Amino acid sequence: MPQLSNRVRTFTDSVIRRMTRISNKYDAINLSQGFPDFDPPKEMLDALAKAAYEGPHQYSITFGAKNLREALAKKQGEAIGRIIDPEQEVVVTCGGTETMMCAMMTICNPGDKVMVFSPFYENYGADAILSGAEPIYIPLVPPEYDFDLSLIEKGFSEGAKAIIICNPSNPCGKVFSREELESIGKLAVKYDAFVVTDEVYEHLVYEPYYHTYMSSLPGMFEHTITCNSLSKTFSATGWRLGYLIGPAYVVEAAKKVHDFLTVGAAAPLQEAAVTGLQFSENYYRELRDTYAKKRDYLLRGLDRIGLKHNIPQGTYFVLIDIQGFLDLPQFEGYTDLEFCEWMIEHIGVAAVPGSSFFKEDVNHLIRLHFAREEKTLEEALNRLSGLMKLLP
Ligand code: GLN
Repeated sequence: MPQLSNRVRTFTDSVIRRMTRISNKYDAINLSQGFPDFDPPKEMLDALAKAAYEGPHQYSITFGAKNLREALAKKQGEAIGRIIDPEQEVVVTCGGTETMMCAMMTICNPGDKVMVFSPFYENYGADAILSGAEPIYIPLVPPEYDFDLSLIEKGFSEGAKAIIICNPSNPCGKVFSREELESIGKLAVKYDAFVVTDEVYEHLVYEPYYHTYMSSLPGMFEHTITCNSLSKTFSATGWRLGYLIGPAYVVEAAKKVHDFLTVGAAAPLQEAAVTGLQFSENYYRELRDTYAKKRDYLLRGLDRIGLKHNIPQGTYFVLIDIQGFLDLPQFEGYTDLEFCEWMIEHIGVAAVPGSSFFKEDVNHLIRLHFAREEKTLEEALNRLSGLMKLLP
């Protein structure tokens, strides 16, 4: 048989997305892959219906429809206090996943080192492999998920080309403080490196925490590649709309990478997304409040049941400690993945095994998300309470 490339041997399929398929097979409540069970705002659906009849239906400009780039530049410009040029500093992509891959392929040569925090969002491993980069992992240490800045300085001093920051952080819910971002930013400037920020959860940040845009810090726009998507902000994960914002010379190259990867995002969906980007501040406040309620509801339920968990400062994920179950004789030798598979089949709730997010050997955590209607979370909690019956 003809041989496949070496690169495809070095990573597996996404465990996050695999868990959704297993969940569907058993008709479980899917709290694994993070996506809402509610629709985008009605105004966007109406705009999509209109686009269905009035177009556009042919290719948009490869790096994004002009009106969408203008809307994105305006939103991000207001957020970071800088005028963003929609012609030269924005690329619309097919989702956050393409954005990250595009950023990595734009800046990395084979063998370039890139720092990645651990735990990390699963995609970054494959992004590094496909772009030829070598990840250097920087531990985020629980319970606060702090990091040692000297390790980051060491990485940069040894030639790391970039650091990837997922802020707010999937899966641990950390929201990087302004001071933390400033200290990392200063090092990126000192060593003339890039910061690639994945900010898809920018609007899911819970009080008293707040989101700081890396590119808003003094001198950082020139060093930051902001990766984002409309998926979480507009409950539209299936629309596959993302964007990359950065300095013009980076974006010029990123446009080429994006063009040859995908040509462009779906034109009617881009058209409908413009409507969402015109919402007022109220929309984002309500979104945050809605998710804050879901978070509190789930955390209270987990406490009632007696399942140990972290308290996410942002995102819609929570990590649950399953060590108490793994210590039971019936789960002897189980990996967290096997536990999640068991849980889907026997408890009826799907989670993602924590090991898919950690470089370290971590087997005692599973990740749940709470982008679900409250009644679904209630039923999930009922089912999860069944776990406690296993304990002596
Ligand atoms: N970010 C979401 C998660 O971690 C899913 C993203 C995706 O599957 N593309 O579950």
